[in-house]
Amino acid sequence: MLSEIVALVRLHEIEFAPSNNAGQDRERLRLEMERCRSEISPALLARYERLKERYAAAALVEVEDGICPGCRVVLPKTAAKRLKDEIVFCDHCGRILYDSDHIYHLHY
Ligand SMILES: [Zn+2]
Repeated sequence: MLSEIVALVRLHEIEFAPSNNAGQDRERLRLEMERCRSEISPALLARYERLKERYAAAALVEVEDGICPGCRVVLPKTAAKRLKDEIVFCDHCGRILYDSDHIYHLHY
């Protein structure tokens, strides 16, 4: 479900891009993180947490020109298509991939 990745992208942004949230109420952000977590399946959330231990902010990466920016591997063409409607993991490094072209219209 893409709504799940939207929630994950937002959670990741709150966790790793504090400047995007400057001046926002901490309590409100905490609640928003909770809401995001509640929209993400336990399996994906667990995977994200494990990836963060290894890659920190780079656990979740935006695909760039068909390449995983985490490990620079060229993704199969089918992966680019799948990004339109499902969550895709890099076959090489396991990072969670997303394409903002497909998720912005779903954004909060
Ligand atoms: Zn990769």
